[in-house]
Amino acid sequence: MEKIIILGSTGSIGTQTLEVIEKLNNYKVLGLSAGKNIKLLKDQIRKFHPQVVCVQKEEDIKEIKAEFDIEVLYGNEGLVELSNKTNYNTLVVATSGIVSVRAVVNAIKNKKRIALANKETLVMAGDIVMELARKNSVSIVPIDSEHSAILQCMNNKNNESAKRLWITASGGPFLNSSREDMKNFSAKDALNHPRWSMGKKITVDCATLVNKGLEVIEAHHLYNFSYDDIKVVIHPQSIVHSLVEFIDGSFLAQLGLPSMHIPIQYALTYPKRLEGIKTDSFNIYNNKLEFLEPDYEKFPLLTLTIECGKTGGTAPVVLNAANEVAVNKFLNNEIGFLDIEKLITKTLEKTKIIKNPTLEEIFEVDRLIRQDLS
Ligand code: MG
Repeated sequence: MEKIIILGSTGSIGTQTLEVIEKLNNYKVLGLSAGKNIKLLKDQIRKFHPQVVCVQKEEDIKEIKAEFDIEVLYGNEGLVELSNKTNYNTLVVATSGIVSVRAVVNAIKNKKRIALANKETLVMAGDIVMELARKNSVSIVPIDSEHSAILQCMNNKNNESAKRLWITASGGPFLNSSREDMKNFSAKDALNHPRWSMGKKITVDCATLVNKGLEVIEAHHLYNFSYDDIKVVIHPQSIVHSLVEFIDGSFLAQLGLPSMHIPIQYALTYPKRLEGIKTDSFNIYNNKLEFLEPDYEKFPLLTLTIECGKTGGTAPVVLNAANEVAVNKFLNNEIGFLDIEKLITKTLEKTKIIKNPTLEEIFEVDRLIRQDLS
């Protein structure tokens, strides 16, 4: 029996993870953590009978306790406590932001497998987390569709003959817009993603291509490839989820309809592939699949994000925090679409980068940037 704890069970990836688990035999939910959506968490407890849950606020404990006789934890310490449970196999990290980084570090020390959907873990603390995973022989299995595709093409991480990684990007809603048009784009325009349905913040990150830059940083840490050997390719149809180029000139690609169920399930069953949840199968006839070079001038944040990865240290931490604040301001109609890049560039220019930060320094830099910009 595989026993799973899900951090962020009421979000988009969390709910889809539960849909996958429902269809798999021999998978049991041991613990759940949720933020504000207590009503949905209660529905999930009724359906999946976890032994323990974690809520964000202390005052939500009584609402859970009134109905269920289970252990209820709360806050960031609660997440760490949840990751310290001994009787589970896999921690699914589906929270957004940095709240779960400490829990991930703990789970790795406890030799638990990590199924990772959270971007910040590797973007902000990739060096520390991967080093710890290597030391403890823990697998970090990605849930993100691109990194899952790479893992599937790599033939279970046997990457000695792999030469380059090609990360596909849909190009977002503004692929064919001019910089002049982009000036006037509203949050509503940016949230109109052509292929994937996702949370608001990540959808804006797809429009600026920051998301793709962050995925390059994650791929660098996950697969230990140099930045020069990780390429971005625009693929508007979102059918090929990424590719690996090998030393003999072969490319392997993973194809499928854009559905997060597939990478979520693969992360749970890896290295096996099970039938589990039925997704519509991709009709291979009469399709046109395009692969285009990104327009780096039109999307300067793609280059800037990758540059921050190359610089390393706290550069990606600064970029990530500044981006999150800027995207929130944009979603609240406080700034324009192109102001996102201005705000990030300005923040990076005036911030000193720490070369080999500790986890505490990473959290502190993140906190200071947010405090400074709000
Ligand atoms: Mg992705």
